[in-house]
Parts: sequence; C-alpha cells; structure tokens
Amino acid sequence: MTTHNSPGDPKVALYPGTFDPITKGHEDLIRRASRLFDEVVVAVAVSAQKTPWFPRQERTGLVERVVGDLPNVRVVAFEGLLIDFVHEQGAGVILRGLRAISDFEYEFQMASMNRKLDEYVETLFLMTGESYTYLSSGLVREIARLGGDISSFVHPEVVAGLKRRLESGEG
Ligand code: ADP
Repeated sequence: MTTHNSPGDPKVALYPGTFDPITKGHEDLIRRASRLFDEVVVAVAVSAQKTPWFPRQERTGLVERVVGDLPNVRVVAFEGLLIDFVHEQGAGVILRGLRAISDFEYEFQMASMNRKLDEYVETLFLMTGESYTYLSSGLVREIARLGGDISSFVHPEVVAGLKRRLESGEG
C-alpha cells in the first residue's frame, strides 16, 4: 500500500467529476458541502474513459459561473490519477454524490481502490437532494439534443451553453 507522508486536511474536500455539464444535482451537492468544509475543490476531470460533450475549459467555466458566489469553493481542472491530485491539493476528503443503488457499485469500487492507494484519504458521500435523484448530465444532454426543456435541471448559464453548442453544430 502506498500512503502519503503528510495526511491531507480533513476540512478540505475534493469533489471530482466530469460535469458534462454541471446539473442542479451537482450544484446542490457543492452548496451543501461548502457549509460542511472549510474549502471545497471541484475537480473537473479531463476524463480518460468518457469522451465528454463539452470541452474541459467550457465544463470548468460553467461550474465556475454556477457556484462562483461561494467564497470557499475553488474550481480546477485535473488530469491523471485522482489520489495524486488529492495530495497535490492538500485535501483530506474525496467527496462524491449518491443518487440510487445503481451508483453504488461503481462508487464502492472507486472508494475502495482509492483507500488502497492512500488509507488516510476518506471518500465521503452526500445523498442527492430529493428533487435531483433522477438527474444526470447524460439525460440533460439527451433532452437538449432532442429539443426538450432543460431549464428546471440546469442553471440558466448551462442552458445557454447547451444552446450555443447545439447551434454551432458541435453537439
Ligand atoms: P463521473 O464521471 O466522475 O461520475 P459526474 O459528473 O457524472 O462524474 O458525477 C460526479 C459525481 O456527482 C458522482 O459522484 C455522481 O454520483 C454525483 N452526481 C451526479 N449527478 C448527481 C445528482 N443529481 N445528485 C447527486 N449527485 C450527483
């Protein structure tokens, strides 16, 4: 087991994800976490496995615009091994969200692997806000592509971003 010499700060949580794009479910989680931790670092992944719809810069920019009013939230882009980035940022906690049982298996596997890589970094889960259980970035993209109304699922900045992307033919 590889452990890090200086444990990260347990009051600093790193929330990693693809945020393709950020939804009200993600936003709710970040707002709640900002009340629990001294600092929340939202880490927008380049994503080795998924091919995101939005370029990373735009995903990061949208997160910044949506949660920019929170003084203790920082938005950063990252690439590479998550646990290395957690160390780099001095975080003691990895934060993830749980919607349904279907999230559990993947999240359990990731949390267990990250604990193997560093037993001093805890993964903590926040339950989704009850109105966001069904909400995922993938569904939002699909509905937007098919011309549906997504305004109750994402921030107005994201509605505009999705519209720009579809109009430019890049969606
Ligand atoms: P990833 O590709 O890492 O799963 P996502 O952007 O899809 O990235 O999700 C990041 C985290 O946010 C995950 O832990 C996911 O379970 C959580 N999440 C996504 N949508 C919601 C939601 N509606 N409510 C609560 N948590 C959510």
